[in-house]
Amino acid sequence: MSVQAYDENNIFGKILKGEIPCHKVYEDEHTLAFMDVMPQAPGHLLVIPKTGSRNLLDADPAVLARLIPVVQKLAVAAKEAFEADGVFIAQFNEPAAGQTVFHLHFHVIPRREGEPLKPHTGKMEDHAVLAEHARKVRDAL
Ligand code: 5GP
Repeated sequence: MSVQAYDENNIFGKILKGEIPCHKVYEDEHTLAFMDVMPQAPGHLLVIPKTGSRNLLDADPAVLARLIPVVQKLAVAAKEAFEADGVFIAQFNEPAAGQTVFHLHFHVIPRREGEPLKPHTGKMEDHAVLAEHARKVRDAL
């Protein structure tokens, strides 16, 4: 099967262009992080590069090299903000692997002992809750 091209009209591309709002947690020259609207656990956030690629498979290694330290920084902050026992990092490539938005992103999901993960792309969270959770992570950065 041939590799599909990146299409900037995906949801995260639109967030980067300012066409769709998000609950921003972190931004630098190359990276944006914001809350996932259907969190699998409290504090579930997404880290994306500003450079477009469909996923990890077609990403420029230089983009990945800048992105991963930010994933680490946000994982540490989210763990602290939500007093979590661990942090789950997830990243899906193509629909067969569960990918639903085709702009490279890393999921950062705080985990607590004994608390099961909610389903992937399950229920939309209240915006007031997402705003409060974004603030908690920003405060921990
Ligand atoms: P994927 O399935 O591609 O790995 O993950 C896409 C993620 O984006 C899902 O966890 C889903 O809940 C989240 N998501 C989908 N639409 C939006 C949106 O409009 N805004 C935000 N912040 N997250 C979204």
